[in-house]
Amino acid sequence: MSGISKKCVGKEGFQRMNYLYQVANALATENESKHVASIHYINLMQNISKKTVQRLDIDTKRTICKGCKSLLLAGVNCKVRLKKKRLQWTCTLCGQTKTFDMKDKNYCPWQQNPDSVVQVVDMGTD
Ligand SMILES: [Zn+2]
Repeated sequence: MSGISKKCVGKEGFQRMNYLYQVANALATENESKHVASIHYINLMQNISKKTVQRLDIDTKRTICKGCKSLLLAGVNCKVRLKKKRLQWTCTLCGQTKTFDMKDKNYCPWQQNPDSVVQVVDMGTD
């Protein structure tokens, strides 16, 4: 045994993106003033995604505002409206809208999907 295990190139990038997403999420939910920091982490995550040529998970992508890159949190910085079986998310920071088709009855918002609940990151206090 040489101790060299087959490196999974994609895994590390994915873990980092996952971590950054969690940090961004924690910051965005904490309070509004931390939103700028949250956007910073989303940017980092998207940069890793580009560098490692890994696409962000569709559910993750859905929660990121196209306009200002902030994490869209229903009731926090985003208004959710139901329009003709379509969900319209409006970012309250930049006004960008996203529309989701509700045809898929199994569609489950990211926040409500138990699979996406990962352990809470201990941010510490600063
Ligand atoms: Zn926005």
